[in-house]
Amino acid sequence: MNNHRQTLLYLIADGVFHSGEALSSALGVSRTAVNKSIHQLRQLGLEIESRHGRGYKLASPLQLLDKERIRSGLSALAAPQCREIEILFETDSTNDYLAECIQRGPCSGKVVIAEYQSHGKGRRGNQWVSPVGSGLYLSLAWQAQKSYASIGLLSLFTGVAVVRVLSQLGVNGPCLKWPNDIYINDEKLGGILIEMQGEANGPIDVIVGVGINYELPATTRQQIDQPATDLLQHMSKRHSRNDILAALLSELFELFMNSDEQRETLLDEWRRYDCYKDKMARLLLPDAEVSGQLKGIDEDGCLLMSVNGQIQRFSCGEISLRVQT
Ligand code: ATP
Repeated sequence: MNNHRQTLLYLIADGVFHSGEALSSALGVSRTAVNKSIHQLRQLGLEIESRHGRGYKLASPLQLLDKERIRSGLSALAAPQCREIEILFETDSTNDYLAECIQRGPCSGKVVIAEYQSHGKGRRGNQWVSPVGSGLYLSLAWQAQKSYASIGLLSLFTGVAVVRVLSQLGVNGPCLKWPNDIYINDEKLGGILIEMQGEANGPIDVIVGVGINYELPATTRQQIDQPATDLLQHMSKRHSRNDILAALLSELFELFMNSDEQRETLLDEWRRYDCYKDKMARLLLPDAEVSGQLKGIDEDGCLLMSVNGQIQRFSCGEISLRVQT
């Protein structure tokens, strides 16, 4: 995103009218250039009203991401673990950005958060639709002394951390669909993508990516090929993105420090948040499809499914789960 669009968004973030003239002089560009940038911001998913004689205004005020506010909200245990918070206005994907940082040197404890992702990454090459200023798009780097196999559990536990935090903040009904999608009332609220770099026998650089809808614009909703929801529809009290991010990062850092000792508790907690236990579902494997009844997870975090009366277990990988609701 060019700097004009970014500065323009900062200027109109307060949600009140700004005349085209005032904006063009603040930006040092022509009225036509302001018009063009407004149009581009709309294309990125922002709802901007324009009224003759009054100018432009965001449909609702936007509290932009603020790293000081996020840092000051971290818990006492998490704060020393958080090496750096970097806020980006735009990136292709926060996971990819962090992967490049890791290539350049040690990054464990670094957090990257973006206002907008042009190619937000989902699992299996899917895209996470990430309209500007409307979501929580973050990635966290963590160096783990673990095997690749045990990182699979970390992926499930990240989902537990998200649901825990949302519940504490008064969000109604968040739950998990295996392995780690976040749902409310059968609508998708968030996704998690864990990526890894390193040798098989550790240490492993883990990138934990989380995307959660905060206020999904109606126009963007149409681009998503399954029912989607956002936090604002389910929060009894409106918390800012910065405050939610601080709570979420605190929970994640504490989780990574203690996940081995808390393994059993976390598995039980995952089971409590499982939205679809006992539902009928289809599993889409790379070259086959299996139907059956969901039976929760085993002690390794593998999905259990009753297929023709036999319990089968499936590990994460390239599997997608379609539940019959
Ligand atoms: P699923 O099994 O739900 O298709 P997945 O778990 O394999 O997805 P994810 O990375 O969690 O993969 O999510 C990517 C999918 O989520 C996309 O294919 C799309 O269907 C949906 N999606 C993309 N962006 C959003 C969004 N902002 N809100 C809700 N759902 C989204």
